[in-house]
Amino acid sequence: MSRLGSEGTAHSAVDVLVIGGGIAGATLHYHLARSGVSSLLVDAGADGASGASSVPAALLNPNRGRSGRSSLADQEGLAAFWRLTNELVAAGLDPGAMRSGVLRVADNPRQARAWRRLPDTTWLEPGAVDPVYHAPFGAMLVERGGWVRPALLLSALAAGAAAAGGRTLRGVDVGGLSETPTGVNATTDGGTIVARKAVLCSGAARRPGLRQPGFEAVWGEALVLSAPVAAPYPLAGAVVAAFGTVGATGMAEVYVTGGHSATPAPIWPQEPASEPVGGPAGALVRGAEHPLLAALAWQVPGVAGARVVRHWVGARAKRPSGEPVARRLTRNVHVLGALGGRGFLRAATLAEALGRRLVAELAR
Ligand SMILES: Cc1cc2nc3c(=O)[nH]c(=O)nc-3n(C[C@H](O)[C@H](O)[C@H](O)COP(=O)(O)OP(=O)(O)OC[C@H]3O[C@@H](n4cnc5c(N)ncnc54)[C@H](O)[C@@H]3O)c2cc1C
Repeated sequence: MSRLGSEGTAHSAVDVLVIGGGIAGATLHYHLARSGVSSLLVDAGADGASGASSVPAALLNPNRGRSGRSSLADQEGLAAFWRLTNELVAAGLDPGAMRSGVLRVADNPRQARAWRRLPDTTWLEPGAVDPVYHAPFGAMLVERGGWVRPALLLSALAAGAAAAGGRTLRGVDVGGLSETPTGVNATTDGGTIVARKAVLCSGAARRPGLRQPGFEAVWGEALVLSAPVAAPYPLAGAVVAAFGTVGATGMAEVYVTGGHSATPAPIWPQEPASEPVGGPAGALVRGAEHPLLAALAWQVPGVAGARVVRHWVGARAKRPSGEPVARRLTRNVHVLGALGGRGFLRAATLAEALGRRLVAELAR
């Protein structure tokens, strides 16, 4: 027997093999297991998701873009996200989701005039915005939004799936898929997995042996800061930030993401740290200000000079239209991906719909 165990072998094929344990694969696996489907999730990362879903914090904000208007798909995605996380909480699991609301600070008076008229948000005049934020033109409050710590959500989904019989294997890299008369064979670095259906949820990662759709990879960065800031709402916009609670030391963890580009950001800091404060070389520095920290400091002056605890770089997959993909690639292989900058906002609705389709296909 291979190190994959007995499940997923020629003698005991799984119904669905989910390839990739980011937010797309983890949510789909959870729905399948809870629908009574024998689902096996494999991920190449040994310690959990290694793609875009390992970003330290993610916002749930349907009022995106310059206009700040929300689309129906994003509104439904948000509602499905809160349903999903409520379900996990009811099962005694911690999905790391905070229904805090989300703040967007206006850049200029014109934007303020347009946002003031939006029907589904609350407009805050400059004097009504908490003084921790610098909002000279006012800010939009998206009350139904919030943020999530992805690592907690992925663990809760895996635990919820496991409770319903869904199995997860880490450190298993799928290098090829071939159709058979009864399903699909997946070649992995640990042996072959036999399944009736496979779903590619592999994000921006590419393997030469897999026929994956040609999504574009957009790289982004995140910093985890330690700063003396108590801010009630996470911030959306060109720079995204979320704020943990202030501990006994007077410091809170602050998560900031952005810097999206077609190429990965260089290792940071490039210059020797002006004032090392310990930890792995180059990881904990003061002084050498990262552009994300500088940009956040304009909106939240209290973070200026904060200590950088961690630097994260990752790529998300997107299509030119920005719309995610959940469709059949071949008779027994589906894809769920290209979630772009709204993976956490949209995964629940997409996974629910694809899960229902797979259940129907398996019943035929
Ligand atoms: C900087 C940044 C900030 C973001 N902020 C937000 C936000 O605020 N709100 C929001 O909703 N979204 C946000 N996103 C987008 C979101 O992170 C992504 O849309 C989402 O994480 C994509 O999830 P995924 O499951 O499709 O892919 P991924 O998370 O990339 O997961 C793919 C997984 O597949 C595994 N894998 C790949 N190939 C194989 C293989 N051959 N065999 C086995 N395993 C494999 C990888 O190890 C990986 O774990 C952000 C993204 C970035 C980069």
